[in-house]
Amino acid sequence: MSIRIVLVDTNHPGNIGASARAMKNMGLSELHLVRPKCFPHAEATARASGADDLLERAKTFETLEAAIADCGLVVGTSARQRHLPWDLIEPRECAARVAQDSRSGHVAVVFGSERYGLTNEELARCNLLVTIPTQGEYSSLNIAMAVQVLAYEIWLAVRPGAPEPAPREVPLASAEEMARLYEHIEQVLEYIDFRDRTGGGHLMARIRRLFNRAQLDQNEMNILRGILTAVQARRRPAGKSATS
Ligand code: SAH
Repeated sequence: MSIRIVLVDTNHPGNIGASARAMKNMGLSELHLVRPKCFPHAEATARASGADDLLERAKTFETLEAAIADCGLVVGTSARQRHLPWDLIEPRECAARVAQDSRSGHVAVVFGSERYGLTNEELARCNLLVTIPTQGEYSSLNIAMAVQVLAYEIWLAVRPGAPEPAPREVPLASAEEMARLYEHIEQVLEYIDFRDRTGGGHLMARIRRLFNRAQLDQNEMNILRGILTAVQARRRPAGKSATS
């Protein structure tokens, strides 16, 4: 299965080229670009050096959701220690997870824009968050350098001769299946008149974060979808109150 690098809202085409080069050195070949500002571009090709074949095969998307739809594990990268309830891991541990989950499904490692990084909305679509540890406050690497560090650790974990992790017994649900779960939850919440008490309409974002953090496998997904379908199928017998 594939290990994909996803670059979101990249401003400088040179960074796309340099990321492709970093990937190819480390045996990665699948590059997805979400809303690149300038691509294709001569600067990207120049900085890719001999990795322009990756640029030719790179796919472009309008949304992160579309770029990761078929992926099980989705890892977000962040320069900042955000106060967010994600498992925050370092590149080596991330590479071990990537090596394991790429045995049973597609995996994505997602990088944000040079200026702003990934938005909270985009991070909410990730299962894990990885930060490259740095010295003190100066924590932001050039994006292609960050791709290089992550790709290097992944290569060490997957190159021929590396110990092979046991694959998961049940593969993770894909991002697309997760998106269908959220649609289903929304329908059921509406059906049971559940009120959003988060103040500001954050309920679905919180639910998304909760389940993405939990890293649902396909069996767990089936259980949840079954429960939701059962709620929708339930009709209260006439004359009975909700509590009886
Ligand atoms: N000002 C932005 C920095 C963006 S750097 C911020 O604070 O998030 C561009 C991208 O490079 C980031 O979105 C991330 O994908 C990657 N990156 C840079 N430094 C990193 C680090 N220390 N750990 C993990 N990823 C990093």
